[in-house]
Amino acid sequence: MLEKKDYYRLPWSMNDNPIAWIEVTDICNIHCDGCYRQHMTGHKSLEQLKEEVLFFKKWRNPDNFSIAGGEPLIHPDIIELVAFMKEQGVKPVILTNAQALTPELLHELKKAGLAGFTMHIDSHQNRPNWLNKTEKDLNELRQKYADMVYAEGGLYLVFNSTVYPSTYHEIPDIVRWGQEQFEKVQGLVFITYRTMTLDDSIGTDKEDHQVDLSKLSYVRDSFDEKFVTGPEVYQIIKETCPEYEASGYLGGSIRHDSYKWTIGALIGGKNRVYGSVGKKTMELAQAGHHWFTGRYLAYLSTAKIGPKIFLVGPWDEEVRKAWKNRAKDILRHPSHLFESVNMQSIGIIQAPDLLPDGRADMCDSCPDITIYEGKFVNSCRMDEYRQFGGFVSVLEKKEDVISS
Ligand code: SF4
Repeated sequence: MLEKKDYYRLPWSMNDNPIAWIEVTDICNIHCDGCYRQHMTGHKSLEQLKEEVLFFKKWRNPDNFSIAGGEPLIHPDIIELVAFMKEQGVKPVILTNAQALTPELLHELKKAGLAGFTMHIDSHQNRPNWLNKTEKDLNELRQKYADMVYAEGGLYLVFNSTVYPSTYHEIPDIVRWGQEQFEKVQGLVFITYRTMTLDDSIGTDKEDHQVDLSKLSYVRDSFDEKFVTGPEVYQIIKETCPEYEASGYLGGSIRHDSYKWTIGALIGGKNRVYGSVGKKTMELAQAGHHWFTGRYLAYLSTAKIGPKIFLVGPWDEEVRKAWKNRAKDILRHPSHLFESVNMQSIGIIQAPDLLPDGRADMCDSCPDITIYEGKFVNSCRMDEYRQFGGFVSVLEKKEDVISS
């Protein structure tokens, strides 16, 4: 059971946030059921993207640029963009479905200064040759890319997947696979699926005019299943890996009891888990990184944290537990003393929830905010701006309070 007092509220804000989300294109080479971007404008020019980089540097104070889309790897200037970001002294990280990734492209990106990838792989992506597969089947694909990135070396790798009600019970298959990949995979992220439905919803724009919700890619005709919540994802991860513990969170923009971002970091060896970092270590990591670099932290530059992590044990009960587990493991298997000590983060994101009054409970201090016409806009809802000029309010039809 999650209790907010047991976790560190991440200190991120609009103007001091480690993540700058830059969308380079709205074109994609596959189609995910949970996608929230419509193809309307195509690739942005390199000039526009450089302006966005500088805008973020001025107003966001980022530690990394999350290069997103659409699918960023199909943008013709992706290598030049990565090199430009690197020149600005901010880590470039590509968010990709990896479909277009080859060892040659990977090598060029690394040379240009790429820090790492977040790869989105799940069973609702309509991937050619991977239709009707389970999350467990897809571990083979995750493994292919984990091996490819590891062979190149020096890059950070996170896998994320959208969690649908039908795939909730497959989360353990991904978590168990991740535990065997401590050297190659530095993070897993689970994002709970959300949609609006045309059969019972009416949308209005800021002038209270009814809008055509079907223009939004994340609207379905109907959806009868119950959405999965962040705490439910936490629960099933905990049942699979009892050593997992959350250490940081972001709440909701409206509801006091939401867990929008829940973040934990496992401490492990090559392919075994010792425990997690706790709230104190998360606080130290954020405040310490800000003290030394002037920025908060979202991605470590290396997952090989080493045994120094245990130095925080006197102040962090979770790290003490991990240290004891490692000591017991070394007594049983002395050769493990020479294995590296690694970290693997597990994050849970609960996408926006529609409230009965038509507003949406968003992530407090939205880390994935992006730029639309010179302003910051939550990337998950930017298509409402692109289609209707601003956020829409969505009410249940039966409430009958819409003027059109
Ligand atoms: S509010 Fe921000 S962080 Fe949360 S899902 Fe939307 S874009 Fe992502």
